[in-house]
Order: sequence, then C-alpha cells, then structure tokens
Amino acid sequence: MVKPNCDYCGCVVPQRQGHINRARKKGLPLYCDRKCAGLGRRKHKTVEQKKKEKKAYDILYRKNNLKRLATEKAKYFQRTYDPAKAAVERKKRMPSHLEYCRKPEYRAKKQKYDEIYRTFGTVRVPQEFKEIVDLQKQLAKAVSTRDGRR
Ligand SMILES: [Zn+2]
Repeated sequence: MVKPNCDYCGCVVPQRQGHINRARKKGLPLYCDRKCAGLGRRKHKTVEQKKKEKKAYDILYRKNNLKRLATEKAKYFQRTYDPAKAAVERKKRMPSHLEYCRKPEYRAKKQKYDEIYRTFGTVRVPQEFKEIVDLQKQLAKAVSTRDGRR
C-alpha cells in the first residue's frame, strides 16, 4: 500500500498503517515526525495579528469577569497596602507633578476651573453656565479698559 505524504513537508510518512488509517478515518493531518507536527499545527499568524487577537480576548475577558477581578484587586490592595511606603512612592512623583502644575496650559485650565468653582460652589454645572463665567470675565475686562480710558 502507498504511504501518504507529510502534510507539512511532503515527504513519505513512516507511520504504521494502523496510525494512517486512524488519522484518515478521523480526518486528521499526518506528519512524518514530531518536528513537522509542531510546525504544521502553527497558525502562521503575524505578531501584529496575535497582539490584536489577544487584545480583543482581554477586553472580552475583563468584561465577562469584571466583578470577580474587581473584588480580587480590592482584596490584593487591602492585603498589600502600606501607607508609609505609599507616601514615599507619592513623594517621588512630586517634582514632575510640580512641573506639570507650572505648565501654561494647565494653569489656564486650572484658572477656569477655579473661577467656575468659586462662582457656583461646584464644577458640575451645565456647559452654558460655564460660558456665563467667560462672558462675565469679558464684560469685566471691557468695563475696566473703558474706565481706564477716562
Ligand atoms: Zn514532514
């Protein structure tokens, strides 16, 4: 009887006839050796494709196990949290945080935030209310420049 060829490299499969019959009956691929079997089972996906699939899997996994993961994380935090150690870690970030606070874009944002907070006592106000603060500021500026000319 003619021996079949390896499904990976194409060489003759040196398996016993019983093995070949069993594989054919189940529709399984045949390989000449373990090396070809390993290579033949590869999906030939690119690294990018694998990363994409893993990302999609992780999103789904987190969504399906959200409750359990959250409680486990909370338990881990309670078990391992050391206030003194955490304070030291926080202090390490202080210089970069100060640098961040000195940025002009942050200062502008913070100034606007503070004005809204001072006016309304909260920042959870509708957008049109926030715009009123801007208008008031413009009005005050206009009045002061007009008064300055007098
Ligand atoms: Zn082979």
